[in-house]
Amino acid sequence: MLAERAAGTTVRFRMRTARSASAPYPGADMHWRYDEDLVEGVVNLYSSHPRKDIPSLQVSRFQLERERLYAIRDPDERSAAFFTLFLKWFCEWGGEDRLKRPLKEFPLIGRSLNILAFRRALKGSDQGAEMFVHSSGEKNGVIALQSEMFEQDERLDRLLRHELTHLNDMLDPAFGYSPEFTLPQQRGAQQRLTLMRYRLLWDVTIDGRILNSGRATLGTREQRWGEFNRAYGFWSEEQRKETFEKLWTDRNPKHEKLLAMASDPRDLQHHSGMLPGAPCPLCTFPTFEWMDAASMQPSTIETISAQFPKWTHEQGACKRCVEIYEFTKLEQPATLCI
Ligand SMILES: [Zn+2]
Ligand SMILES: [Zn+2]
Repeated sequence: MLAERAAGTTVRFRMRTARSASAPYPGADMHWRYDEDLVEGVVNLYSSHPRKDIPSLQVSRFQLERERLYAIRDPDERSAAFFTLFLKWFCEWGGEDRLKRPLKEFPLIGRSLNILAFRRALKGSDQGAEMFVHSSGEKNGVIALQSEMFEQDERLDRLLRHELTHLNDMLDPAFGYSPEFTLPQQRGAQQRLTLMRYRLLWDVTIDGRILNSGRATLGTREQRWGEFNRAYGFWSEEQRKETFEKLWTDRNPKHEKLLAMASDPRDLQHHSGMLPGAPCPLCTFPTFEWMDAASMQPSTIETISAQFPKWTHEQGACKRCVEIYEFTKLEQPATLCI
């Protein structure tokens, strides 16, 4: 995810200070915040499916302490006490250390952000990093994570490293990030396409940089190459290979270059390919669940082609549309033979 909200925008979810003097590593003056839902979600997960490194006696102690808090009458006091308790066990059971570990690789973030907050994402597609810039120039970062990620250290590490690189780029003057993505001559669908392509190109440069430096990240080279191929399938193979290689090995990518490539008007008449989050050509809603023509029934393809004459097999469609058209039989054949 990429975003830099307009100046003055506030983060609208419940945040509490984690620990007053908690710097993620020595020398970082950044403040550290957690959204209650994330901390509670992780602790509940750890106590219901304890990790091997969590002694069962500790789980019983946590449960006992939690039971006692129900006796607090005042709702605000009770909710504050619950948060303190959840946070204590979140840290005790390694949740905080799991977040701090990859952060050590990004000293610029520790120096430049005022607050780094972690909030809970309910769906995998909502996970990601955002930056909020206050009118005073103060910058705050928010990383959304699913609590289930805390069960898989290795996956959490890879996701965090990828998302922290997004934040690092947004803060790095050499990258030159700007939240302005709309070019004056572009309209709705073209803007969405630009944004999607930008996101993909940025991801290619991020995972390329991380993997080339011998660390683990979210996407593999094959995965990113596959996405890139789908998005730029209208280019010659040679051009695709050459451009991908340049992006993948670029150690100092620049926002302006990525944006220029994503918004090239010569390319914008081409459809977006089946990129995660791209709009479905039939219902135009963004989708993460694509189906290609090869996995559709011939009768479904026939129905779609009849209703959307401009639709081509390479465009694919969202799963929901395919399900709908699987059940909608053609009322009459496209060509009537009398
Ligand atoms: Zn990304
Ligand atoms: Zn659709």
